[in-house]
Amino acid sequence: MLSYQHAYHAGNLGDLHKHSLLAWMLAYLTAKPKPLSYLETHSGRGLYDLAAEASRKTGEARQGIERALDEGWLPPDHPLSEALATIRAQHGPTAYAGSPLIAQHFQRPGDTVHLAELHPAEHEALSRVASFAHLHRQDGFQMAQAVCPPTPRRGLLLIDPSYEIKADYEAIPRQMAKLARKWNVGVIALWYPILTDDRQARMVQDLRAAFPEALCSEVRFPPARPGHGMVGSGMFVVNPPFGLPEEAARIEAIFARLRP
Ligand code: SAM
Repeated sequence: MLSYQHAYHAGNLGDLHKHSLLAWMLAYLTAKPKPLSYLETHSGRGLYDLAAEASRKTGEARQGIERALDEGWLPPDHPLSEALATIRAQHGPTAYAGSPLIAQHFQRPGDTVHLAELHPAEHEALSRVASFAHLHRQDGFQMAQAVCPPTPRRGLLLIDPSYEIKADYEAIPRQMAKLARKWNVGVIALWYPILTDDRQARMVQDLRAAFPEALCSEVRFPPARPGHGMVGSGMFVVNPPFGLPEEAARIEAIFARLRP
């Protein structure tokens, strides 16, 4: 299928929720002098320009990261603010870092990064900015199942599918259970949309039953435009790092102010 393009949505409120928690976890994990693996199943192109037509067309970044920066939702020393400042210093004031470049910001010598992206054009764009990583042009779950448990064994896997087909929701709890069995010390983070028809609810219910100790952070926000189906964002984290519940609560409080 592969019709989804993240350039239309980069920097939206879902990205803000996902990327702020991701950056916080990477800052925490890389604060200890032990090597880390970062894996991502659905990487996107890595670098976005919020002044480009795709982004301006939806206006989603305006309601997300641009408003967050203008209104100081995140302190300047938040790990996402710091990662974005680095990206903008390198790529210009309208650049936005996808998750792979957020990971690059925290990468140290000895850390290993594996990125999967199946879409040919997105993979090609990713390959232009991700020489720091092992790139896989294959299904992200196949990559993760093949690489886990990774070396170094300490690490984080981000699963961020485009949810283009209903089967994605059904497959995820099965895939995550298999990955967690193979890699019982890995931090496994799943992003999902909260939709007006609650399509994600069964998946989240199954995940909560399979991983009762996991952290589930959900935020709600107004739809990007009238009739738009996404009204919130979720991050489900297996083996959450120490302190993540408190950080998730801080981020959730920011979003609570946006409720209509
Ligand atoms: N994680 C990125 C970020 O936060 O910057 C955004 C990723 S976007 C939501 C999902 C990506 O998954 C798209 O670029 C799409 O082309 C890719 N994709 C779709 N199906 C895939 C699959 N089976 N395996 C790997 N990538 C896939």
